[in-house]
Amino acid sequence: MPIAFDNSYARDLTGAYVAAAPQGWPDPQLVLLNTAWAAHLGLDIDDLQSPAGVAALAGHSVPQGAQPIAQAYAGHQFGGFNPQLGDGRAYLLGEIMAPDGTRHDIHLKGSGRTPFSRGGDGRAVLGPVLREYLVSEAMAALGIPTTRALSACTTGDRVLRQHGLEPGAVLARTAASHLRVGTVQFFAARGQTDMVARVVDYAIARHDPDLLGQDGRYLAFLQHVGARQARLVAQWMGVGFVHGVMNTDNCTLSGETIDYGPCAFMDSYDPATVFSSIDHAGRYAYGNQPGILMWNMARLAEALLPLIDPDQDRAIALATEAVEAMQDAYRAAWLAVFARKLGFEGPCPETLVDDLHQLLDGQGVDFTLFFRLLPDAVRGNAAPLKALFADARGVDAWLAALQANLDNPDIAAERMRAVNPVYIPRNHLVEHALEAASEHGDLGPFLSLLEHVQQPFTEREGSDPYAQPAPPDAPKVVTFCGT
Ligand code: AMP
Ligand code: MG
Ligand code: MG
Repeated sequence: MPIAFDNSYARDLTGAYVAAAPQGWPDPQLVLLNTAWAAHLGLDIDDLQSPAGVAALAGHSVPQGAQPIAQAYAGHQFGGFNPQLGDGRAYLLGEIMAPDGTRHDIHLKGSGRTPFSRGGDGRAVLGPVLREYLVSEAMAALGIPTTRALSACTTGDRVLRQHGLEPGAVLARTAASHLRVGTVQFFAARGQTDMVARVVDYAIARHDPDLLGQDGRYLAFLQHVGARQARLVAQWMGVGFVHGVMNTDNCTLSGETIDYGPCAFMDSYDPATVFSSIDHAGRYAYGNQPGILMWNMARLAEALLPLIDPDQDRAIALATEAVEAMQDAYRAAWLAVFARKLGFEGPCPETLVDDLHQLLDGQGVDFTLFFRLLPDAVRGNAAPLKALFADARGVDAWLAALQANLDNPDIAAERMRAVNPVYIPRNHLVEHALEAASEHGDLGPFLSLLEHVQQPFTEREGSDPYAQPAPPDAPKVVTFCGT
């Protein structure tokens, strides 16, 4: 059963992409297939595992019905505008319809050079491909909107990276779409308002069909993207996720997390947490993510101005109001995330959440463990929780305030356990798993870690090392983009 592609992007958005072609690999091999996700998408597992399936997933040859294209996009990278980025080492194979009626892009990353490659080699290597596979699976299991990994393949050749030659690899990932803020910016920067309108109408058809054909839809679209992104970043904050490269080309219109290059999860709570080797100024630090989101949404608003109202003064006023309203939407989403983490079914007093963040600040408290020890703490056993703090003064008063607002500590404890993960992709475990896979060909540690993060709320016997932070003397993890 061949994959039934429907290539709406290629059909509807001529001018927004260039044709791409597989370059052919020495020995394409399937390393991992996400069988549960493939089944959800209605794909045939046996077909995907066949030589023809693997050749398609590895970007070795084009399956029937696919139309490989490299999408054009621009982007603000660390605040500076680059008018032309585009898929330089990836292409969109096509779209498929899942049995539930949803449309998904199938996209290959590491698939070779394209006209957008500039000086790059168009390649990806196994470590970072597995990293994206693992972390995006963890995010999905945590209930956070994300692109999904469908498969990881090796190509059979070796690619030069900073630590020497590494196995070449290709990730097949799916997404609600690969439309980015940068896709809109690409045409806005060229003054091609008709193309901006076409791209946004296409995005509306895929993500906001209720707005189709409506007057005022471009402003409403901006508001919808802002609402989705506000909820997304609030969820990141709730699990200590640091994206690491929130450039506008890595900010989706769908509201899914995309681009797992330099991301990592924060161990001890610190708003200044940064992992990326190139983020010297901490632009994309944990605590800066909400502000950067607003900055990115302001860039989207700018790109949409000619469509929002022919009177540009009026357009600016409307767009400004919309972006300002997103700050309130973000704050509401963030409070809702933390109310749930604290065991509330609905909203909780804002001071509880604000005071919690003050309480955690500068204490070196492991963010994930704190929330896992909270159920015991609200039921009278606060010692393990307090032991996380360098200075536990203030914990009792905050706990008393929390308890005073919870109707039933037992029910609250159950709710906390359901939303606060035991297992996240801890950096030291990720590094160890990727090293074993990439350097020694041993997938064992990776598969075991993957299994844990795919069921992040279920505590398992004998799995304590997966739940603990790195030992205090472990080296600080540094992450890299574009590897
Ligand atoms: P990223 O930092 O992953 O968001 O990528 C930013 C831009 O660099 C995109 O246009 C990518 O396609 C491009 N890029 C990243 N790595 C490579 C590579 N190895 N070869 C060609 N282009 C690349
Ligand atoms: Mg990117
Ligand atoms: Mg990247």
